[in-house]
Amino acid sequence: VALLVMKFGGTSVGRPENLAVAVRLVTEQATHDPVVVVSALSGMTNLLVELCRDPDRRRELAERFVAHHLGFAAEIGLPGELLDETLARWRDDAAAAGRTRRALSAAARDRLLSWGERLSAELFAAALRRAGIEAQAWMAGEAGLVTDDRFGAAHPLPEAAARLRELLARRPPLPVVTGFLGATADGRITTLGRGGSDYSAALIGAALGAEEIQIWTDTSGMLSADPRIVPEARPVPRLSFAEASELAYFGAKVLHPKTLLPALERAIPVRVLNTARPRDPGSRIVPEGEPAETSWRIKSIACKKSITAVTIVSSRMLMAYGFLARVFEVFGRHRVVVDLVTTSEVSISVTVDDVTNLDDAVADLETIGNVEVRSGLAVVAVVGEGAAARIGLAGHVFTLLGGVGINVEMISQGASRVNLSFVVREAEADKAVRLLHRGLGLDAEIEAAVHAEPSAAG
Ligand code: ADP
Ligand code: ASP
Ligand code: MG
Repeated sequence: VALLVMKFGGTSVGRPENLAVAVRLVTEQATHDPVVVVSALSGMTNLLVELCRDPDRRRELAERFVAHHLGFAAEIGLPGELLDETLARWRDDAAAAGRTRRALSAAARDRLLSWGERLSAELFAAALRRAGIEAQAWMAGEAGLVTDDRFGAAHPLPEAAARLRELLARRPPLPVVTGFLGATADGRITTLGRGGSDYSAALIGAALGAEEIQIWTDTSGMLSADPRIVPEARPVPRLSFAEASELAYFGAKVLHPKTLLPALERAIPVRVLNTARPRDPGSRIVPEGEPAETSWRIKSIACKKSITAVTIVSSRMLMAYGFLARVFEVFGRHRVVVDLVTTSEVSISVTVDDVTNLDDAVADLETIGNVEVRSGLAVVAVVGEGAAARIGLAGHVFTLLGGVGINVEMISQGASRVNLSFVVREAEADKAVRLLHRGLGLDAEIEAAVHAEPSAAG
């Protein structure tokens, strides 16, 4: 059975004109048996996060949330009564949270955050019905996405796939499933982490054995850099799972970092497409690697900010076995995730993204050696199949950076065959990305492609 998962992000469902396109795209695919996955309307999850954080604003923000959805329904020509029941339940839930001034439990927080996706799924399903398609909104948990109870960053349980397959099998009605959410086995709502709707789509696609997972967003694919940093960035037509995973992991927000794992396991191609320009080819992410045709083989540059580096210096490390094991045991015990690792004879440096438990880990590391912690850093990752093996790439990159006085603090090369990553000061990260975009031929190559200059090929 041909089956398609179509995930629409916040701007795709959150702008009336884009929602109309999304609905049309789904109806056009009716013979491909689509399952729709939706994010909250643009801005709504941020509003809910703020509502959870600030007890003084709960009432005001709860009403703003209601007004936004009613206004949106009116703009797309759906009757507001459609949402009456759900919005009444939202008001009850928000009011209950509003009565306490204490910090919310993680479970209460996830339940409040879930309303953004619940409402967008209802709106999307109603818009499909109006277009003549039998459709039904589903809470992800009720559609079978069972997770553990790590609220805020829940993991699907192994039985989720079979349950999703069973519950989403019967159609019509066409399922419109909430992204971002799951539920524990005893029915408490969980969230998968910010930006997690992409991951939801991949989990559902993998569970159902979809022919393709489509991520509809606001750029025409994965671009050669974050367009907010490099306005010249252009779509990369084809990427391997390895390339796209590295980009997502190192900050390309267009895909949640966990998205590609379920797709990879079942070898399901993922496409990234632009709802506002649905005829653009977008990016196709497939199992096989295929080097870029440019001389440096680089396809895209990603950048992750707010990075902290921890360096442990120990003269005892020299020739001692078990040193690295002790260091990583400390990080593991405190559940600190490390990204890049570099070692020298007497020291080890790692980068850390989430510093939640870092202070405790550092206290323990001080029993092993002298510890230095530096924040305000950024990781830049230069990604392309075969790039790591490209002789001279590192020299070229660091010469370019050195030429404008950008100091490189840590380098990790060859850990993966598709990337070269390094650490710079956060304040210099955008400059580094722009410089490399140009210096690695990503600006020029695009111009060549646009103007079809024959010389570029040779
Ligand atoms: P959605 O709501 O559809 O999930 P997101 O805002 O989560 O959309 O992700 C899309 C955004 O990701 C883009 O608008 C862009 O600002 C940002 N982005 C960062 N790096 C890249 C990249 N390499 N390619 C495309 N978009 C990127
Ligand atoms: N609405 C959620 C968020 O903003 C999930 C998503 O958009 O993917 O984080
Ligand atoms: Mg997103």
